[in-house]
Amino acid sequence: MSHRDREVRDKDEIFDLVILGGGPAGLTAGLYGGRARLNTILLEGAAVGGQMTTTDEIDNYPGFPKGITGAQLTQLMEEQARAFECKIISEMATEVFAGGETKTVKTVQNEYRGRALILCPGTEYRKLGIPGEEEFTGRGVSYCATCDAAFFKNSKIVVVGGGDSALTEALFLRRFAREITIIHRRDSLRAERIYQEKAFAEPKINFLWDTVVEEICGNQTVEKVRVRNVKTRKVREFSTEGVFMFVGVVPKTAFLKDVVELDQWGYIVTDNSCRTSIKGVFAAGDARKSFLKQIATAVGDGATAAFAAEKYLEERQG
Ligand SMILES: Cc1cc2nc3c(=O)[nH]c(=O)nc-3n(C[C@H](O)[C@H](O)[C@H](O)COP(=O)(O)OP(=O)(O)OC[C@H]3O[C@@H](n4cnc5c(N)ncnc54)[C@H](O)[C@@H]3O)c2cc1C
Repeated sequence: MSHRDREVRDKDEIFDLVILGGGPAGLTAGLYGGRARLNTILLEGAAVGGQMTTTDEIDNYPGFPKGITGAQLTQLMEEQARAFECKIISEMATEVFAGGETKTVKTVQNEYRGRALILCPGTEYRKLGIPGEEEFTGRGVSYCATCDAAFFKNSKIVVVGGGDSALTEALFLRRFAREITIIHRRDSLRAERIYQEKAFAEPKINFLWDTVVEEICGNQTVEKVRVRNVKTRKVREFSTEGVFMFVGVVPKTAFLKDVVELDQWGYIVTDNSCRTSIKGVFAAGDARKSFLKQIATAVGDGATAAFAAEKYLEERQG
């Protein structure tokens, strides 16, 4: 934590704007909040940049025709938010009280109060919940290719899933692994066509269609998976040294269930201006109920939410 951030923590002040989450949505809200001269603080519980930090190559964020790494884009966004005086604190929010005029966010260490609040907690990978998954996490089971690919040099691995994440991660893993099998429960992929074309053209990547993983087995590390064909119901074992899981995401909103309205899957319900069911509380990014979940849309949400918060605060001041 920087010296400047420590100074902020010592003050018992009410901020104009508290932002929860430091992915692209939160960082953009921070930039817009700071630029609107709102006294803005952002709380990030893990790593600033959010899911971008686990992304190797981003080639669909406008302005970077040759692509950019998640780490680089994170650094640029953080620098820009800080340049407009958004304070960034490394603390995990555990509780939110938002019913009154002043919104309070509790972290393990502190309590932060604001006149407006923007929720940007993002999503995390869904677990399959099968035997062996938890036991072998970190010992062959991974949810992040960028983080763990280097441990699988020349290995034979499987990637579970058929969406964008599964394919982009498999394409990244081909630089390390010697053989990759994508296990997908359907007979066609959900991923964008551009990723499908790349994966089909890659000799190191094979597919196991109509197949689900039922168990992950091994001794010290992963040695095989037990798979079942959903059409023939045939069960067999498939040898592998690693299992990369990309079977969807869940919003990180469990701690917000009594705070704002969530939909049946836990996504925060908002209107087009990113306003939640509670006055003065806004939501942006992947945790918001929305059509597309990407960096570009998270950034758009962050800008919209901060602008809506600014207007809300202006109205209060009269
Ligand atoms: C492997 C992978 C590849 C991807 N590739 C692309 C791509 O090429 N192009 C693209 O546009 N999109 C891509 N995406 C999707 C993109 O990264 C997300 O859409 C985007 O990051 C969502 O931004 P966000 O700010 O809403 O949430 P996140 O990026 O999830 O950030 C949320 C942040 O909030 C923090 N947080 C959560 N709860 C709390 C709490 N209680 N207290 C404090 N902090 C909290 C988290 O630690 C996290 O840092 C990819 C995602 C992954 C995982």
